[in-house]
Amino acid sequence: MAPGSPADEAEPQTAPWPWRPLAPRPEVAPTPGLYVHVPFCSAICPYCDFAVVRERPGESERFVEAVLAEAASWPIAPEAPPFDTVYFGGGTPSALGFEQLERLVVGLGRRLPIAPGGEWSLEANPEDVRGSETLAAWRDLGFAVLSLGVQSLDDATLRDLGRRHDRVAALAAARLAAATGFDRVSADLIYATGGRPLDSWREELREAAALGLDHLSCYELTYHRGTAFERERRLGRRRMLDEDARAEWFEATHETLASQGFEAYEVSNFATAPRHQARHNSKYWSHQPYLGLGPSAHSFDGAVRWSNVRSPRRWLERLQSRSVTGGRAAGGEDLPPAVAELERLDLEQLLLEAVSLGLRTRAGLDLVSLRERFAVDLLAASGETVRRHREAGLLELVGEPGRPWLRASLRGWLVSESLTLDLVP
Ligand code: SF4
Repeated sequence: MAPGSPADEAEPQTAPWPWRPLAPRPEVAPTPGLYVHVPFCSAICPYCDFAVVRERPGESERFVEAVLAEAASWPIAPEAPPFDTVYFGGGTPSALGFEQLERLVVGLGRRLPIAPGGEWSLEANPEDVRGSETLAAWRDLGFAVLSLGVQSLDDATLRDLGRRHDRVAALAAARLAAATGFDRVSADLIYATGGRPLDSWREELREAAALGLDHLSCYELTYHRGTAFERERRLGRRRMLDEDARAEWFEATHETLASQGFEAYEVSNFATAPRHQARHNSKYWSHQPYLGLGPSAHSFDGAVRWSNVRSPRRWLERLQSRSVTGGRAAGGEDLPPAVAELERLDLEQLLLEAVSLGLRTRAGLDLVSLRERFAVDLLAASGETVRRHREAGLLELVGEPGRPWLRASLRGWLVSESLTLDLVP
């Protein structure tokens, strides 16, 4: 990007609080992650509840400038560790043109401290992969990780989900991506969509696992309020699987992928090797700090969580108005223009989150770290609960003498929310 372009001239604004890195924890690097939400999609899928819009002419240009202005508005403390992951999610980041992506990559690097070896990830939809040149261009821009929104390899399911690609395009994009030289290629898949037998999903998983990808994310279809699918469900036109059936699909997903060499390191995420686990998303699960830019993006500094204005167009207006502050937090302080809400978490809330997030991972909860951070000995405080759930096969105590870890079993993952509430009453 040429110096002096409009985005470069964005006035730095003053935010009312500094970026505070989370206190270092022994088992994970205390480095923050950076997330950029790109809200544009060529059409809105009927199950989607993300902050997305169909782009109006020129809107993505203004979006790029606004993201860079928002990045410049954060006064990062000089002693703060640099961001070591940068994740472009959406929406559809691959809907941005190559030059727009380049301006974001270069512009973010100028405005925020990003570690030289930081991992850059890009979400892409198969229909945007127009050939090996597209993939090579993204890779050469610095994106080491590509996450493909495949969702299904079944044409009927793809049509039902309102996707703009078909099975042939998904397979071609995945195979080309796997051969492009990214550090990691991942694909998202959705299951329990209804209207198909479980065996066909198992077959689809085996096919996906054979594509040469390093990572798969498998999510059960959720009927979010306000979506077309949820309206159809309420009208009786769509049927949600019952609890037993959903458990069956969940277990089949894990068993099939395990048999194909994909280890579940998180409730919905599978990798062929530890080095292929998602570095950026792992920060969310291990309670690391992150800064989110763009509409609806969330941020967390270890004790305070804030979220940006959800509506993409309202977010754009706020950034373009270049006002120094936006709304007001419950505590009375002025918020930066992009920020809609702010919540200060007390120790109890943080503990609940740490347990909930930790139980989502295969590694589980490091009980020594938990004690050091929250002054809570979970085995002493909830020993009877732990014993009961271990006997029921929902929790497992692993690790070494003096360094115990508590983790959920496969069946425990199905009820991890109630396990959390039992453990942290
Ligand atoms: S492509 Fe993804 S982000 Fe866009 S509307 Fe569909 S589900 Fe939502």
